[in-house]
Amino acid sequence: MEKPLIVQKFGGTSVGSIERIYKVAEHIINAKNEGNQVVVVVSAMSGETNRLLGLAKQIDSVPDARELDVLLSAGEQISMALLAITLNKMGYAACSLTGAQAKIVTDNQYNDAVIQHIDAAPITDLLQQDKIVIVAGFQGITEKGDITTLGRGGSDTTAVALAGVLKADECQIFTDVDGVYTCDPRVVSDAKKLNVIDFPSMERMAKHGAKVLHLPSVQYAWKNQVPLRVLSTFSANQGSLVKGDACLLPVCGLAIQRDMCLIKIASEVLLAVTKQCQLIGIAIWDVIEHPDWIGIVVKQEAYSKLELVLQGKVADRQLISLLTAVGAKAEELAGSCYQLLIDNEIMTIHQKLDNQSFTIALFPDCVDSAANILHQAYITQSEAHVCLPKHAFLN
Ligand code: ADP
Ligand code: ASP
Ligand code: MG
Repeated sequence: MEKPLIVQKFGGTSVGSIERIYKVAEHIINAKNEGNQVVVVVSAMSGETNRLLGLAKQIDSVPDARELDVLLSAGEQISMALLAITLNKMGYAACSLTGAQAKIVTDNQYNDAVIQHIDAAPITDLLQQDKIVIVAGFQGITEKGDITTLGRGGSDTTAVALAGVLKADECQIFTDVDGVYTCDPRVVSDAKKLNVIDFPSMERMAKHGAKVLHLPSVQYAWKNQVPLRVLSTFSANQGSLVKGDACLLPVCGLAIQRDMCLIKIASEVLLAVTKQCQLIGIAIWDVIEHPDWIGIVVKQEAYSKLELVLQGKVADRQLISLLTAVGAKAEELAGSCYQLLIDNEIMTIHQKLDNQSFTIALFPDCVDSAANILHQAYITQSEAHVCLPKHAFLN
């Protein structure tokens, strides 16, 4: 009988130093010694992708997209080789592969490419030789042979896509927290770890900024029913299993999206600006129509691109943050959330309802307090996360 196959992905903090790479090697060796075939996906060492990006931006605020991918993909290449050297030194045969060597073929959207197909042969050949296979996360290659990257946080997607193609028994995302929490545990100290989170809730959490999983990784795993688990590199724990097709909890969690940009423009140019955004591929989160101004909200990182086409049209621009409640009844919370924040003297800029989610736009310096207040009201105080504060669903 074929041995079970496990895909293990280690994020930037997990491979952040040689000492930590040894710790990662221990997890891999344990899985191997338990009788599994092991495919590993690694991110760049923590800070490395930002360092490379910073170098490029010293030269050009909007670097050439193709060349940026050539540059950024180097970060993962360093980690994969260091990990393979470590495993080989420890007596376990390992071989590293870049995205191109692993035949991960993407479309040609540089910086934000989508995996089209993967030829499993290079990996399965190495597995048959009883080797541990280490693949660089976050990168692929176009049909034409250009290097692409999958968007920030994209190594999760590499891992899930490989797990899908190789029909892995489990895809384990090792990170610096021990699972998926009801809110970023670095912001809300009494956030609860979810032993299981359903796919629709996880998708919405990821979409609204919970970067513990890259959004396309959740979507791919859901569509292809890849068994997916998030767990810690640094502590022994079962982590969180992502499983199930129905959003069960009234409020499953809160997600924070920082670094959004509110750009105020004259109402006459709104149509032209939205068209230009569409043309250059910038997603507008929402248009805010205030009695005194009109604004569009985009990701801050998109602003430098947009600045080139908006010359002279911007009246004002400010950083904002988004806080989203996710869950089967999240939409019903709009009124009570708003009131709760006012009671706590927190000013909101805008609100938006979406399918099983409710988002509030806030000034960046109050988003953490707002998250704590809403978490306390709708999650901590709701017993086992099931009953909500009485006032929440009253008209
Ligand atoms: P990696 O480098 O391992 O890919 P990331 O930094 O991308 O790790 O994602 C892990 C981080 O996600 C955590 O350190 C945590 O601060 C953040 N995070 C945000 N929302 C959540 C959440 N709901 N549950 C757990 N972690 C979260
Ligand atoms: N290194 C890339 C990033 O920092 C990809 C990843 O870590 O998943 O975004
Ligand atoms: Mg990540």
